[in-house]
Amino acid sequence: YMGNKTQKEELGRATWKFLHTMMARYPETPTRNERKSLYDFMMLFSTLYPCGECATHFNKMITEFPPQTSSRFAASQWLCGMHNKVNERLHKPIFDCSSIESQYPCGCNEPEDE
Ligand code: FAD
Repeated sequence: YMGNKTQKEELGRATWKFLHTMMARYPETPTRNERKSLYDFMMLFSTLYPCGECATHFNKMITEFPPQTSSRFAASQWLCGMHNKVNERLHKPIFDCSSIESQYPCGCNEPEDE
């Protein structure tokens, strides 16, 4: 069903929102296990993403630019850069990555949000 453009775009928007929010909540100083989880997650994501054309492209990109897991900043900047590469290919505007973390609140209502 991913031949349908509207559905592909909707899935893309929802997925980017999830991924950027996940990076905005990733630990500032992750443990070795947390780093491995994020790395493995992104590698598996790139093979399982249910738009074949997108997954193929993303897979090539992730091989060239492996997930950066050393900190929240590194991870969120890495994903922002990956999204911009997709934007470039689809002729969409390039996003300014310098202000990304504040753009993706999660409303998770944990003490650190206050
Ligand atoms: P989206 O690109 O979905 O972005 C949503 C919002 O995020 C934007 O409105 C903006 O506010 C913000 N944003 C934009 N750029 C950034 C950034 N760099 N960092 C943070 N926030 C940003 N579609 C295809 O047709 N072909 C593909 O090969 C393809 N590959 C994809 C691969 C992946 C991994 C994903 C998740 C999606 C892919 N898509 C692909 C879908 C495509 O990227 C868009 O999601 C879809 O076209 C809808 O675009 P949009 O204009 O609504 O904005």
